[in-house]
Amino acid sequence: MRLIFLGPPGAGKGTQAKRVALKYKIPQISTGDILRKAIANETKKGIEARSFMEKGQLVPDEIILGIIKDYLISQEGKNGYILDGFPRTINQAIELNHFLEELEVKLTAVINFKVENGVVIKRLGGRRGCKSCGALYHLEYLKPTKENVCNVCQGELYQRNDDTEEVIKNRLLVYERLTSPLIVFYQRLNLLKEIDGEKDIEVIFNEIIAFLEERL
Ligand code: AMP
Repeated sequence: MRLIFLGPPGAGKGTQAKRVALKYKIPQISTGDILRKAIANETKKGIEARSFMEKGQLVPDEIILGIIKDYLISQEGKNGYILDGFPRTINQAIELNHFLEELEVKLTAVINFKVENGVVIKRLGGRRGCKSCGALYHLEYLKPTKENVCNVCQGELYQRNDDTEEVIKNRLLVYERLTSPLIVFYQRLNLLKEIDGEKDIEVIFNEIIAFLEERL
């Protein structure tokens, strides 16, 4: 199964991708997570990507396409995957189609998460993540038992430096301008499934699974 999870930042793509990946035993490939790791490890790609990410801009295609190509041809991607946060531009989507053609495989579906901007700003502004295990919390909706401490591993919680209000607004503008045209792109390829990303996490998960089971 080869899936793309599409939608604005804070739409719940990552949360659902983790659950769906676990159910079908396929990897979740988050370009954002890969870049954050590269920054933490101070690799060449990380150093190049950092200033774009801090401003809420897209990282240049050649960096992203290199990362994705490595995954698609790796052993890890053999039995399918969920692309979470990729593609984000029409050019990336076209390049992805070329890679897939070369590998003689096809996408199964593209799940598009719809969420209003006001909801995104609230969700991301209060989002906190664990430095050690990556578990996600929210200052209002999903508080950790002990302030700033992860329930799972006792790690320290932190706020992503692109989850500040000003940067979130920029990420939303970038989404509108560069990423949202992908909705029509995948609609035309008959791959798109729209999901109301404002519903309850469990309800959304069940909807996605019901749709995928029909497609399998
Ligand atoms: P995310 O964790 O998906 O919200 O991504 C965080 C940031 O990483 C984005 O705001 C971009 O700066 C960068 N990024 C992630 N995926 C891509 C992509 N496919 N193309 C360009 N930039 C990306």
